[in-house]
Amino acid sequence: MTFPVARTRDEALVYLDLNPCTCGSVETDWDSGVVSVDGELATCYDGACGECGAEREYLFALPAREVFPGAEWPTFGGPEPSELLDAGEWLWLADLTAGNVPAEPGEARRALSMARAAVEEVLKFIPEGRDDVPPEAFWSERGRQVRDAEPPRFRRDRLLVVRDTYRDLVH
Ligand SMILES: [Zn+2]
Repeated sequence: MTFPVARTRDEALVYLDLNPCTCGSVETDWDSGVVSVDGELATCYDGACGECGAEREYLFALPAREVFPGAEWPTFGGPEPSELLDAGEWLWLADLTAGNVPAEPGEARRALSMARAAVEEVLKFIPEGRDDVPPEAFWSERGRQVRDAEPPRFRRDRLLVVRDTYRDLVH
């Protein structure tokens, strides 16, 4: 059995937030640990839904190379693109967090830092020598909707401007 790779805990938690329980709630206190599935190591996130109590469990493959948290939160992964969220979903996440920046300065910095890191993730889908995110980097319905709404937003030059703007706002 093959599971998608969760490169870091920050990435797994974002993915879990995007995938609510069947009751619609995302309120779950996740426990995580490494388990063996058919002889292969995987990271297991499990917990009870805070709303309906259902037991929830997700399994992720370990990254080929372990990624350690960087100086700035969050760390979603190394240079390789995500297997959990597609390019459109990362930009959706960036829009969402940058569009709801809290008034409290510490929380505002966290929101903008999250938006900055999410745009970095979009950029990781652009192969060397290309100017925009290729079509295969959009595999979710939500991701395709974001791209179809405004395809030029996925050009490298525009993404870099957005990323730098969020980065400047953090500091
Ligand atoms: Zn539930």
